[in-house]
Amino acid sequence: MKYDIIIGLEIHAELKTNSKMFCSCLNNPFSDKANNNVCPICLGHPGTLPVPNKEAIEKTIMTGLAIHSKINRDSKFDRKNYFYPDLPKGYQISQFDMPLCYGGYLEIDDRQIPVTRIHLEEDTGKSIHKKGENYTLIDFNRAGTPLMEMVTEPLIKDAKEAKKFCQEYQKYLRYLDVSEADMEKGEMRCEANVSLQEKDSWIYEDGLIKAKEGKKLNPKVEVKNINSFKSVERAIDFEIKRQSELLDNNEQVLPETRGFDEDNGETKRQRIKETSADYRYFPEPDIPPLEISEEWLKEIHQKLPEMPDKKIKRFIQQYGITEDSAILLSNNRKLSEWYESAVSELGAWIEASGDEYERLERALAKSTANLISTQLLKHLKEQDQNISDIEITPENFAELVFLIFKGKINSSAGQKVLTEMLDRNESPIKLVKELGLEQIDNEEELKNKIKEILDKNQAQVEEYKNGKTTVIKFLLGQVMAATKGKANPKVAMEILEKLLS
Ligand SMILES: [Zn+2]
Repeated sequence: MKYDIIIGLEIHAELKTNSKMFCSCLNNPFSDKANNNVCPICLGHPGTLPVPNKEAIEKTIMTGLAIHSKINRDSKFDRKNYFYPDLPKGYQISQFDMPLCYGGYLEIDDRQIPVTRIHLEEDTGKSIHKKGENYTLIDFNRAGTPLMEMVTEPLIKDAKEAKKFCQEYQKYLRYLDVSEADMEKGEMRCEANVSLQEKDSWIYEDGLIKAKEGKKLNPKVEVKNINSFKSVERAIDFEIKRQSELLDNNEQVLPETRGFDEDNGETKRQRIKETSADYRYFPEPDIPPLEISEEWLKEIHQKLPEMPDKKIKRFIQQYGITEDSAILLSNNRKLSEWYESAVSELGAWIEASGDEYERLERALAKSTANLISTQLLKHLKEQDQNISDIEITPENFAELVFLIFKGKINSSAGQKVLTEMLDRNESPIKLVKELGLEQIDNEEELKNKIKEILDKNQAQVEEYKNGKTTVIKFLLGQVMAATKGKANPKVAMEILEKLLS
């Protein structure tokens, strides 16, 4: 690449709150009926007074704390003036120069991507263009929904990193339970600012990209309408290619807003980019300045859950599981909590077994992690479900882990029990009995079965005796088949070895 790539992201997230940002209407942008969650305040009728939503402010501050931002103890709301049919007031209440949070970072592949700010505003309504009709309908249910905007510094190096950033941020929002953050539903929306600069022509200073002396900067292009993680990458890659071709041909890149077209993977001009002067920001006269007290900040701090980066490190240290397992289990807060409750349920079993506690706990924590990653998540994926849909209690799952770990059932029986547990949350001990999966441990019984099998497979017995000892695996397979998978494989192997020697 002949140019330096400069990418910054703006990510909007609809906050999960009971009511809208400045009124008591239900915050439900996906209501079945249009315009049923509206009132004079969110419809912008004259003479109404907006009142900020405390829950939304808390969730914004919480997000800031989680990504290491500083909190502006003195903050305020501002009016951003622009005219658009789905903006009933003719302006949006947003935050201009005193956002709730500033600074901070998210770590992507061991690189800290700095965040400029997080501020709080309100969402617009939705225009509905009916195909083939010459009119537009407007639904104001979304108007006034709390919207949190995060802006990064322009220090993202390529499209892949931008995509990873969005994925990591979504994980954080879900961990904090501040937003569902589903990009396909528009609950999380990403815009990318992309520019290409001649190598060695710019410096990054005071949060800005500046031209070096005697050099000129190329303008940035804002890309909107990005509705999936995949599109983040595609849209930015397309824009890099488009701009580099223009520059290669000595043509001008215009400072414009372009929309991404999912169908053909191209960005298309929407309008020349507005500058903040176009919005004529001024302090919102109907809302007094915000003061975040020490006490309130402390309260919010206490609600902060353990975030995935810390959790991954703790899981590795505390349970001795692999980094891959720790990452997998920590990807989703519910899954990580479910895992830890299963491990803690195992405590009762460990105590009853009389074994050394800590050693056994780590071993079982590993078995639990393995059973989740190799079996449970696979099952859920096949059924297009996620961990929230699961009905198995950690208590029953722990029981299953223990049965397999102690060799009370073998792994194929374990799989059958797990499949059954996904349909009904029953005790595995009960299911083992019900499904007739009790293991055959009885040596006499197994010995008789194995003798029969050796009689039937004389050729293999000869091979074994002639030194081809790997054939024992085939014979064990025959034993397992003959007992419908119920033989204790360890005991059966010992008997086989004895009889063949
Ligand atoms: Zn309202």
